[in-house]
Amino acid sequence: TSTGEANSDGTRPHVVFVPTAGMGHFHPFFRFIAALSTHDAVDISIVTVLPTVSAAEADHLAALFADFPAVRRIDLHLLPIDAAEFPAGADTFLLRWEALRRSAHLLGPLLAAATPRATAVVTDIVLASHVIPIARELRVQCHVLFISCATMLSLCAYFPVYLENFSGDVGDVDIPGVGRVARSSLPQPLLDPEHLFTRQFVANGGEICKADGVVLNTFDALEPDTLAALRNGTLIPNFPPVFAVGPFKSLTTTTTGEKKSPSPPLAWLDEQSPRSVVYVAFGNRTAVTPDQLSEIAAGLESSGCNFLWVLKTTVVDRDDDADPNIVLGEDFLSRVRGRGHVTKGWVEQEEILSHPAVALFISHCGWNSVVEAAERGVPVLAWPRAGDQRLDAMVVERSGLGVWMEKWSWNGEEGLVSGEEIGRKVREVMDDSVVRATAAKVGEEAAKAVAVGGSSYRSMQEFLVKLKAA
Ligand code: UDP
Ligand code: UDP
Repeated sequence: TSTGEANSDGTRPHVVFVPTAGMGHFHPFFRFIAALSTHDAVDISIVTVLPTVSAAEADHLAALFADFPAVRRIDLHLLPIDAAEFPAGADTFLLRWEALRRSAHLLGPLLAAATPRATAVVTDIVLASHVIPIARELRVQCHVLFISCATMLSLCAYFPVYLENFSGDVGDVDIPGVGRVARSSLPQPLLDPEHLFTRQFVANGGEICKADGVVLNTFDALEPDTLAALRNGTLIPNFPPVFAVGPFKSLTTTTTGEKKSPSPPLAWLDEQSPRSVVYVAFGNRTAVTPDQLSEIAAGLESSGCNFLWVLKTTVVDRDDDADPNIVLGEDFLSRVRGRGHVTKGWVEQEEILSHPAVALFISHCGWNSVVEAAERGVPVLAWPRAGDQRLDAMVVERSGLGVWMEKWSWNGEEGLVSGEEIGRKVREVMDDSVVRATAAKVGEEAAKAVAVGGSSYRSMQEFLVKLKAA
């Protein structure tokens, strides 16, 4: 195939990936790296930032290097930042991004010293405004792997333009060709222009237009209008090429590791009848308040449905020592014994979503979770909380993948969602044959996109051609 060819100057492309912290960021990077590594004419390195934030990240990095021995590792030792400079209680991951941005100048020498010569960098959006100029100076291509939906990308690219033309408080944002994002659906830090997230967001959004390309874990049929607006200049004239290459293949199906015996959640699912289980999980870094946990418990119980619930009470997994018996009460756990399975810690989410017993996914709508559900046609009951999640939920609703409970609140600040309401809604969506059918259709479109000749397949080919033009 054409992928076996060298660059125009005779060398093979050597792509250096620069991921940032958080499993929601690592996962798409690792999956894309796995996909790219099947093209044997591309050399790959990963900038590994030390120390890692979470246990899950450390484990997954180690596994990646073990499974892909040809992938090179470039260590970057983070410079310390002074925590006193930031508000108390600032988000651990946001601080890590800031630390990385301040250490970004260390990347230049690492890239310049890479062997074989680096021909392209693929950076996380969080670092884009620092990495793109470094890559330019070294005359290597610079692509952004955008870990969220195309709709969030459109907001990121358009927000600096919005701010330029607007004075006063941030309101609803009308994105050309995409539509209106209500003020309440914006990542909430954007309402404060001085917030660290906003400063990073505006810097990166302004710079992304100078990237050589943007790679996305989405597919044309999931976000048709937004992808068209990005590609045809409606949103920003001369926006870089957008490669929608998703759904990314899961690592469990690309690696050749031996099959382990099923983990307790999967073993429990094996006992359940088809389409009987509600899977409840809010990603790797979303802690739920104790009061809201009690309401979720009451709702799951009153729904009458079987459920598999991943309990998370802290933002960083290493800190989570809560005992479900204490958090939820032994009474609850004994009442739901048999029909409910509550687990803590890391689960194999993709295997869970692939399981025939799972009928509905109550999700915070981290973008990876949404795409994983889309790929399998599993209906989503969207309960977005922070960051990009309300934009992701907009995609869930528009595409027919599921139902978005727009009134269900951010973090309990606007009041708890009652167990009664949760129970009623869960029952309703479980019984909704229309949602089931439209979600299944999204799954079919996902399969078509990655099949030979499909939209994502073609986008990946175009990306490879671009890499070789370095
Ligand atoms: N994930 C998982 N097991 C867990 C928690 C998370 O496999 O116990 C995976 C999940 O499948 C997804 C990613 O971690 O691929 C989480 O990313 P997402 O964008 O959904 O949400 P975030 O955690 O970034 O909020
Ligand atoms: N993001 C962005 N531009 C930036 C920084 C972040 O578009 O300059 C996106 C990022 O891709 C992610 C979201 O903003 O989708 C951040 O969400 P959140 O704060 O929930 O953190 P995350 O889930 O990424 O860890």
